[in-house]
Amino acid sequence: MTSPVWHPFTQHGLNEPIPRVECAEGALLHLSGGGTLIDAISSWWVTTHGHCHPRIAAAIAEQAGKLDQLIFAGYTHGPAEEVARGLIDLAPRAPGCDPLAHVFFSDSGSTAVEVALKMALGYWHNLALDGQAEARHRILVLQHSYHGDTIGAMSVGERGVYNAAWSPLLFDVGTIPFPAEGKEQAALDALETACREKPAAFIVEPLILGAGGMLIYPASILREMAAICARHDVLFIADEVMTGWGRTGTLFACEQAGIVPDIMAVAKGITGGAIPLAATLATSPIFEAHRSTDRARLFYHSSSYTANSIACAAAAANLAIWREEDVLGRIAALGGGLSQRIASLAASPAFANPRQLGTIAAIDLIAPDAGYLSDIAPRLRAFAQEKGLLLRPLGNTIYLMPPYCLDPDQLDHVFAVLQEAGEKFGLSA
Ligand SMILES: *Cc1c(COP(=O)(O)O)cnc(C)c1O
Repeated sequence: MTSPVWHPFTQHGLNEPIPRVECAEGALLHLSGGGTLIDAISSWWVTTHGHCHPRIAAAIAEQAGKLDQLIFAGYTHGPAEEVARGLIDLAPRAPGCDPLAHVFFSDSGSTAVEVALKMALGYWHNLALDGQAEARHRILVLQHSYHGDTIGAMSVGERGVYNAAWSPLLFDVGTIPFPAEGKEQAALDALETACREKPAAFIVEPLILGAGGMLIYPASILREMAAICARHDVLFIADEVMTGWGRTGTLFACEQAGIVPDIMAVAKGITGGAIPLAATLATSPIFEAHRSTDRARLFYHSSSYTANSIACAAAAANLAIWREEDVLGRIAALGGGLSQRIASLAASPAFANPRQLGTIAAIDLIAPDAGYLSDIAPRLRAFAQEKGLLLRPLGNTIYLMPPYCLDPDQLDHVFAVLQEAGEKFGLSA
């Protein structure tokens, strides 16, 4: 019997098996037919503390019996208020920078990015209405970026086969080269030049570009990019959808650069990865540009489930875990384990370019045919699965992004499988 389910990023014509998962706990997924997988990529970068965390599960159950959902235009509820206050308390801050002071809820990373872009353009639009500035419309982006799969989010992301069908609809952006090692200054110069043309905003994934291939750049460059934008009055949007919630070693990646963005998008780990929720944080000037006695100037954005109360209760439980438990300690331990093992894996001639940041580690497999569409990624994925591991390589880039509860024995197993994969699929094999 064929299933009517249409899966994301899945070529159904290849009839690749689609395993069914029955339940999960910690870093483990239990398959319906028996068998267990280590979830080495946190179920696509969302699970932070581990699957089915008891505190988060309990918060969801309790809220589901109390207030399940509420229209959020003109009404509010405790969990949303609590999460908004918690986010503001935990958000990056720095001397001399306007703090992030307002929280707009939505449902996914893509919508959080759409909201960020709409806020930035709304800011300039409203300033122009008041004659305080020229309207600005252009968005600057970093080469190789990924910001989501809705039309606006695709527009600010790298163009390629994954969005070619919609390219006529995507809006034009200015692309700044990725600050690769040795080319940092060229990237900064390009940003400086582009900023002179008065764009509305620059959107970046801080410290590491995820879907673009786990490309890492230094905090000092992030800091410099933010400074260039500030000098030119260009709004700085940080997409912390992947990097947030401890992934890079600190709660938010921006902290490592000592910067406060004008707008910041968070999602994925905001509920510990249990249920969809997202938030876009903004500084007071962004909010104030929309605040008025004129009803026409309100921020025109909503979705039916904005600030869903069950999702907010899960996020509140996640924030409590962050406040009360030594999450950063666990992250440091996992990061240490990853960095040591990825370095030894790089000794194998099958691998190159080992890199690690916080709880993210990546390495490139030297394989004969290594493009995004080559079948190396699905073959690696199938091999890992046979060996009890959920992986989803990006072309020939194998990366790990495990939940923070992954223990050293599990980590050893993960790396033993990678070692074997190198021997089996690497060019030297
Ligand atoms: C995953 C991701 C998004 C999109 O988030 P969704 O919840 O999948 O819509 C946006 N930006 C970055 C950096 C991401 O990694």
